[in-house]
Amino acid sequence: MKKIIFLSLLVCIFGFLGADVEIKFNENLASEIIKTEFVDNVEYFNIFELNKALKSKISVKILERKLFLEIYQKQLIFLLDSNYLKHQNKIYNLPDKIIQNENKYLIPLQFIKKIMPLIYPEIIFKNGIIIANPPVNFGINTIVIDPGHGGKDPGAIGFSKKHFEKDIVLSVAKILQKKLMKELDVKVLITRDKDEYVTLQERTDFANKENADLFISLHCNAHPNKNASGIETFYLSTAKTDEARAVEALENEVVYKYEGGEEAMQKYDELAFILADMAQVEHLNESSEISYLLQKKLIAKMQCVDRGVKQANFYVLRGAFMPSILVELGFMSNKIEEQKLLKTAYQIKLVNAIFDTVKEFKQKYDNLQ
Ligand SMILES: [Zn+2]
Repeated sequence: MKKIIFLSLLVCIFGFLGADVEIKFNENLASEIIKTEFVDNVEYFNIFELNKALKSKISVKILERKLFLEIYQKQLIFLLDSNYLKHQNKIYNLPDKIIQNENKYLIPLQFIKKIMPLIYPEIIFKNGIIIANPPVNFGINTIVIDPGHGGKDPGAIGFSKKHFEKDIVLSVAKILQKKLMKELDVKVLITRDKDEYVTLQERTDFANKENADLFISLHCNAHPNKNASGIETFYLSTAKTDEARAVEALENEVVYKYEGGEEAMQKYDELAFILADMAQVEHLNESSEISYLLQKKLIAKMQCVDRGVKQANFYVLRGAFMPSILVELGFMSNKIEEQKLLKTAYQIKLVNAIFDTVKEFKQKYDNLQ
């Protein structure tokens, strides 16, 4: 009996169907329908329906109460049981909470009506109909190459004291850019194409703004021990603090909900900060995968000391919403390695190893479509 009352109650709460929303694509594709339903007088839709219609990528981290959605190559993070969603560095506020109902994730319809057109100028919501571009393929289409340092920041200084990391990595980056553009069907952008200072934040912001699918930061090493040599590849480490951050985000949300006002605004900023820090976490698997692939290919080709794949908390990788790696191509402080790094033939060999890696990575991810 209890069960029946409970079930009837569920039907009462979740059972009212709303007016569905039609998505019309501005090309000759069939329309899609997104069903809506009312919960406590608020019109909701199930995120999985939008996901299917727009062929987006979706993932849920239950423990962190986060839902990640990538539509038209932009990543949105929804905080479950809250009114927040985040795109890049901006937090959007929904009038009602995002709720989980069994295996459905219900988003207030206001998201489609008001927020989607803000994030996606190409999407129009009019008279209950969404007009949108056809869904895009989510392979590796845009790559950002990031030659480290530049301008007033020379990076590592060579054994000879005459050569700088900033010049070598710029040269390698330009050769790599040219080869990738010529031989792979991809857009390849560079964070600096001359000897100028670019902040770490600007490098990541650029990659995010361009919706890059891969970020490769190029560096050369230096060590007080002049014998140190070899290549190492890094990807971001946040694994240890990931859970603590997620808990923090949730705690902040609770404070916001119950305190309101100016204090809430302060918490709002904190939340933005925590979420920005989380950006790279979603791509750790891919970042780790390409790191190992690259390290293997570089060592095979260059026949130098294998310093392995490592995890570190590089700021330049932190805010990037895409698989991101940082490679140290050799030691400027080592007399022999400095001489090698300066040679164009050696730089081309390095580029070939990076190119082969990107090609293999791209083929794998393009085939997942
Ligand atoms: Zn460096």
